[in-house]
Amino acid sequence: MEKIKCFLDKNKIEYFENYDVSWLSSIKIGGYLILAIFPKTKRELIKTLTKLNSSRTYYKVVGNASNLLFVRNINYPVVITSKMSDELEIKKNLVTVSSGMLLPKFCDLMRKNGLSGVEGLIGIPATIGGAIANNAGAYGFSISDKLVEIEVFFNGKVFKVKRNEIKFFYHGSNLNGFIILSATFLFENKNEYDIIKLSNEFTYKRNCSQPSGLSLGSVYRKINGKSAGFYIERSGLKGLRMGGVVISTKHSNFFINDKGGSVIDFLRLSTIVEREVEKQFGLTLIPEIEKVGDKDETFSRLSHSYKV
Ligand SMILES: Cc1cc2nc3c(=O)[nH]c(=O)nc-3n(C[C@H](O)[C@H](O)[C@H](O)COP(=O)(O)OP(=O)(O)OC[C@H]3O[C@@H](n4cnc5c(N)ncnc54)[C@H](O)[C@@H]3O)c2cc1C
Repeated sequence: MEKIKCFLDKNKIEYFENYDVSWLSSIKIGGYLILAIFPKTKRELIKTLTKLNSSRTYYKVVGNASNLLFVRNINYPVVITSKMSDELEIKKNLVTVSSGMLLPKFCDLMRKNGLSGVEGLIGIPATIGGAIANNAGAYGFSISDKLVEIEVFFNGKVFKVKRNEIKFFYHGSNLNGFIILSATFLFENKNEYDIIKLSNEFTYKRNCSQPSGLSLGSVYRKINGKSAGFYIERSGLKGLRMGGVVISTKHSNFFINDKGGSVIDFLRLSTIVEREVEKQFGLTLIPEIEKVGDKDETFSRLSHSYKV
């Protein structure tokens, strides 16, 4: 780790040791990262990844941590792309953006340029990279719809991957191990007013159906075509609290950290939810959130490790 810190110092790449991950995670809970690295440009990101690869260090790249529950202290470097937000190129309808830009900012910029195709995604607190890795979607829109290609780092090399070479599915993709550096989209022209109208409609729908507190969005995947919240609510668990984390009374698939909750509170709540839904409906809930530092963690799934 000393060599990596030396490299980061030399290249003036921002990093923090013993980083309190609750500052990063959208639910504001979690342990400590031994090393949190914040590249500010694509160039810095590539440099960092090249160094981590050549020194054969396990690491994980994250975006806005809006889908991550850090369950214990993480003793490998975590590279955080959320500060790489300003690299954007618009050539008529073709837009190339760095993986760290936040989706709400991106949607807003597209609106200002009269470009349509991401209106439904405006309320998702993701980075472009995290959204593509998870194929984020809402209200009939998904981030992969208008995607043309992505630029990736894989196995020490930087190259482009076309949309049709990637498998996207419901809230997921086969991009494990690929680090997204930037993405290119092809949008349609639309009147700014029409884009605003549609975006406002989706924002209103989201505000009506989802709670506004600190959360990770939906905790579980849809099951039998229904929101997991349907079964959680019918199991009588709406409003159940474990310490500082409570099942939202507005949307039972959201766990809200409203009183300084801990990872243990979250996990205890999820254990009860999974047990009750299984007992009452015979259904196994599948988490939509990703646990980082879980004892079941496998490096192929959770870490963008070097390849040998
Ligand atoms: C209030 C709220 C509402 C939400 N609503 C929705 C919704 O409507 N629809 C929806 O789909 N999701 C929703 N989510 C969930 C979440 O925003 C998505 O899963 C999103 O795609 C995560 O993006 P992120 O940048 O936060 O990624 P992170 O949570 O940081 O990471 C998620 C995964 O992506 C990987 N990753 C991140 N960046 C990169 C990169 N550059 N290259 C390769 N892999 C990368 C990480 O390693 C990790 O495996 C919501 C979450 C919250 C908190």
